Amino acid sequence: MAAGGSTQQRRREMAAASAAAISGAGRCRLSKIGATRRPPPARVRVAVRLRPFVDGTAGASDPPCVRGMDSCSLEIANWRNHQETLKYQFDAFYGERSTQQDIYAGSVQPILRHLLEGQNASVLAYGPTGAGKTHTMLGSPEQPGVIPRALMDLLQLTREEGAEGRPWALSVTMSYLEIYQEKVLDLLDPASGDLVIREDCRGTILIPGLTQKPITSFADFERHFLPASRNRTVGATRLNQRSSRSHAVLLVKVDQRERLAPFRQREGKLYLIDLAGSEDNRRTGNKGLRLKESGAINTSLFVLGKVVDALNQGLPRVPYRDSKLTRLLQDSLGGSAHSILIANIAPERRFYLDTVSALNFAARSKEVINRPFTNESLQPYVLGPVKLSQKELLGPPEAKRARGPEEEEIGSPEPMAAPASASQKLSPLQKLSSMDPAMLERLLSLDRLLASQGSQGAPLLSTPKRERMVLMKTVEEKDLEIERLKTKQKELEAKMLAQKAEEKENHCPTMLRPLSHRTVTGAKPLKKAVVMPLQLIQEQAASPNAEIHILKNKGRKRKLESLDALEPEEKAEDCWELQISPELLAHGRQKILDLLNEGSARDLRSLQRIGPKKAQLIVGWRELHGPFSQVEDLERVEGITGKQMESFLKANILGLAAGQRCGPS
Ligand code: ADP
Ligand code: MG
Repeated sequence: MAAGGSTQQRRREMAAASAAAISGAGRCRLSKIGATRRPPPARVRVAVRLRPFVDGTAGASDPPCVRGMDSCSLEIANWRNHQETLKYQFDAFYGERSTQQDIYAGSVQPILRHLLEGQNASVLAYGPTGAGKTHTMLGSPEQPGVIPRALMDLLQLTREEGAEGRPWALSVTMSYLEIYQEKVLDLLDPASGDLVIREDCRGTILIPGLTQKPITSFADFERHFLPASRNRTVGATRLNQRSSRSHAVLLVKVDQRERLAPFRQREGKLYLIDLAGSEDNRRTGNKGLRLKESGAINTSLFVLGKVVDALNQGLPRVPYRDSKLTRLLQDSLGGSAHSILIANIAPERRFYLDTVSALNFAARSKEVINRPFTNESLQPYVLGPVKLSQKELLGPPEAKRARGPEEEEIGSPEPMAAPASASQKLSPLQKLSSMDPAMLERLLSLDRLLASQGSQGAPLLSTPKRERMVLMKTVEEKDLEIERLKTKQKELEAKMLAQKAEEKENHCPTMLRPLSHRTVTGAKPLKKAVVMPLQLIQEQAASPNAEIHILKNKGRKRKLESLDALEPEEKAEDCWELQISPELLAHGRQKILDLLNEGSARDLRSLQRIGPKKAQLIVGWRELHGPFSQVEDLERVEGITGKQMESFLKANILGLAAGQRCGPS
């Protein structure tokens, strides 16, 4: 796909549109922070596009049932009374001869500038299957549609606005998803399942875990978009009509960071949506899958109609949450976006009823009032001016290695290859079942210690009730799992005690002694346990003078120290505590921090105590607030308690530190 037409000319048009906008833009530059005024309203714009006859049958045998009157109005035969016609007026009407450029320049291009003001915009193609929605949005290589044209202009505009010396640094990312049978599917990562849609405290709609690809050029965009679109087309032929049953949503985000004080940041989102066909399935007489689908897809379109009606009537409750599509469009309809609905209609008589219903929906939509505002905040961890070079944006080489292939960096022409065994390296504690039993026993002891400590953690954050319930349930499940592991540990202990009883005490390697004496109550021998992989134990044996790090417990009092510093009386106590060198701890912390900041949801799941839900929460928080400055910031993630954060920290830092001792990571 290549956007046709003269790029030069489009740039001139963009510049003209932007210049015209700038004169009136001041009143739109209302920051959400500290905003006391209500943002000015912006009505949803509605355009209607009538496609030409596509099978060449136009003429006396099948005269068109719709006729354009001028650039804003049209008329259609009234089936109730053949003597009269039904007349409609919209913001724009594009007739059979209109070109892709006419629609783009007339209705879409003017709203793109709002993205650079940190505001949202959306373009929705509506209409029955076969009326030209995909042609309008996507087009063909010869006649590129709204999507390629908008991307080309937007990338050009962001390059110019974000050039060195300009006040803001700009970056663009894209995501591409489809909503099929009320499931949100990531077209850039088809293997990922149904994604959840969330709303943050400012009312911004988020999809944690949705792939975001940085794009700096149109070639970048095509590289991600074309294969993803093919995914969808393959699905269509295999799954009978899938493409007309699903809503395809391309999300383009423009991020801006101010280079000088006060270091504001802005985010503008552009939704480009090819909606599912709006025809009435009950009338088509379809059976089987299509009939079954009519419930699901038309749930979304039906709720879309209800949302529009509720907005028009000023009802207190707008049913955004009743379908995935409307939830996603919450900021686009009656929300914070500049929205344009393009209703596509066909001239053939067989489309008549669907055309009337599409026109009626379009007429209702033009009454919807949005209140766009500038989505602006201060950069969370500003230490100095934003660096201009892309190198700065790439981050440390260490962080790069930890990234998954889907999280490419800005300016990187090729996807980063994922490290072959990144997850293994990052999570040496992961496979408990495959561990040396002695190691397992020590880890479980540590787990118990941490669990008892964690009970004094901070209360749950004030999340919405349902999320809190889900979280509490997860915590309960984890607790049960820990209980199960503890029982298993006891069994293992008993087994080992039985074995050890047969051995002479002086033959036992010092490091393994404590296991065999946990229940001895008389004159107790020195109890030491080394938390390190087998490989390290062997190294240790080879160099007996090397410093070792032990797990030692002093009753209820915890103390960190090296083996050399042990007091004799402390050695006799029947308890355990963690000893680990500060460098290893620091290294462990850094690795976790890198992973939290750079890792994909999948990478994050390789950490202890991070399941798919928490991984998505972390990614969502990061998308919203920027990088974590320290590992403890995890506590700020909605849905992660202080207690969970502490327990997470300890489980992971120990593991990563131990991992560092046993080899490269
Ligand atoms: P939809 O996505 O609404 O189901 P399509 O975009 O696939 O419809 O259009 C159906 C057919 O009509 C396609 O073959 C397409 O190329 C053609 N078509 C649609 N709109 C136009 C137009 N404005 N000019 C020429 N052909 C068109
Ligand atoms: Mg289509």
